[in-house]
Amino acid sequence: KKITIAIDGYSSTGKSTVAKQLADSLGYVYVDSGAMYRAVTLFALENNIISENYFDEEKLLKSLPEIHLEFRKKNPLERADIYLNGKNVEKDIRTMHVSEFVSPIAAVHEVRVKLVAQQKMMGAAKGVVMDGRDIGTVVFPDAELKIFMNASSRQRAQRRFLELYSRGEEVQFDDVLKNIEARDHIDTTRSDSPLVKAQDAIEVDNSEMNLDDQFHTVLQLAKD
Ligand code: C5P
Repeated sequence: KKITIAIDGYSSTGKSTVAKQLADSLGYVYVDSGAMYRAVTLFALENNIISENYFDEEKLLKSLPEIHLEFRKKNPLERADIYLNGKNVEKDIRTMHVSEFVSPIAAVHEVRVKLVAQQKMMGAAKGVVMDGRDIGTVVFPDAELKIFMNASSRQRAQRRFLELYSRGEEVQFDDVLKNIEARDHIDTTRSDSPLVKAQDAIEVDNSEMNLDDQFHTVLQLAKD
């Protein structure tokens, strides 16, 4: 019987890695909810809604009905990419620049209402693994399996730094660490659905685990 799997946790704890591995081995659909918040952020950056100096929340609210997000596959064997108003933005949303603005955007109540509604629809059919910050608490409170991932912030920054670096982005380790800590702070203290471990979530700390250990730990949980 197919179930719903919710994976939450702080930034760069390896949620998406584990979620993808689970989805592949169980034949489930993987949904990256963070990609949706990142795509809204990209829209806001491109439309002069947010910058270092301002955040025009009113304009964001007015623009929300014009923001259409969709996950689409280039071919059936590949993983879905995210499309913002018909354009593939899978690469554009992963930059450090988008990471710097995503948490304030994700703290806006109306943004969450819109994205959560879409996420719930994507989970209507079972056999979904979704990762994010509020999946086990808000999006799928009835998920059969909830996992809360954690790791030390140094470990997380190290992994994120290597990921950005391998994609050719010139970033400083300290900036990556600061960004992770800033996002954790905003994500855990915002008034609307702050990041918190669901009561019935199982915590997995992977600070000392390699990818293989982590995968087997989580796969075992899915099989139990
Ligand atoms: O998962 P990822 O790091 O790509 O998410 C980017 C940001 O989007 C998070 O730091 C958080 O602010 C926001 N987010 C959220 N709720 C989710 C997923 C992501 O608020 N379910």
